[in-house]
Amino acid sequence: MECIKCGKESTKKDRGVSGGRCSACYQAFVSEPTEHGLTDMAIKLAEEELSGHGRIYFSKDSLKYQLQRLFIKRIQWCNIGMSVLLIIAVGLSVMAVLNGGFFVKITLISGALVLVPLVIKANYKKFISQLDVLVDKWISVNPHEKLLTAEKYQASLGGRTPTNLDEMAFKQVLICERSETVALLLSNLFHIHYGCHVLSGQSYPGGVNAEILSRLKQNPSVKVFLLHDYSPAGHAFVRRIKTDAKWFGGQRVEMIDLGLNAHQKKLFNGMTNKQLDRNKKMKETAEIALFSPEVLMKKCGAAIKEGVALDLISTAVDAE
Ligand SMILES: [Zn+2]
Repeated sequence: MECIKCGKESTKKDRGVSGGRCSACYQAFVSEPTEHGLTDMAIKLAEEELSGHGRIYFSKDSLKYQLQRLFIKRIQWCNIGMSVLLIIAVGLSVMAVLNGGFFVKITLISGALVLVPLVIKANYKKFISQLDVLVDKWISVNPHEKLLTAEKYQASLGGRTPTNLDEMAFKQVLICERSETVALLLSNLFHIHYGCHVLSGQSYPGGVNAEILSRLKQNPSVKVFLLHDYSPAGHAFVRRIKTDAKWFGGQRVEMIDLGLNAHQKKLFNGMTNKQLDRNKKMKETAEIALFSPEVLMKKCGAAIKEGVALDLISTAVDAE
């Protein structure tokens, strides 16, 4: 495995001898390819891509999903491989029935080969289940300058928190279910790029947010955009913003739900969370953090500009 600091290659044996560190520069190794399916360099490259080479703040969850996407791609290749091998095995078994002899042997071999991608796929699923722990360890050893923390969030806002609200328009607002999404958007200056207030629906807004909300509510033609997970809590959030008088309950305003809703799950291609609920029914949920910050900002920005829901423009944005 290559050291992310000095580039020196270390074998598993070398890493064992040097206590899990690079023998040249003492940089600690975090992942073990056979255990995690990833090298340290692969995680570093994922961070580079996620942060747009140091331009964009990202969260711990965004990193986890970026790494999960790597495995999902490999799983998709396994599925393709398995289908091809299955077709070959079926073809050969027909030949075996017709001709016997030699074809029986290679049918058995090709049948056994179908199991190979199955085993690899199971391994990738195991690697995905370990990502939370791996990412926690990674960020404690290699904290990235654009990994968003509470301190960096405060610093990124710097003098940019509006002090004079009279200078700002109150035409549109994006309300996010989670405060983490708000932090991600504000630290990346989404509100400035798209001229849109961003509020958190997780707690009743205090301080300047309360004033922003009250000013928005005074504008009868305000456009309210909602952003949430595909989950029971996400649905409850939408209901709360629409019906609670603290938010926009009892007011006639244009409200555009950007999702995530049931029909948008397909955007995530195998990356939803599946869990059994109390009635032993399989519940599928999807988190907003599945979008990389850059894609999320592009999609939401375009949706806000066009005044339409997220999924209607996803193809156009993806094609950029
Ligand atoms: Zn090194």
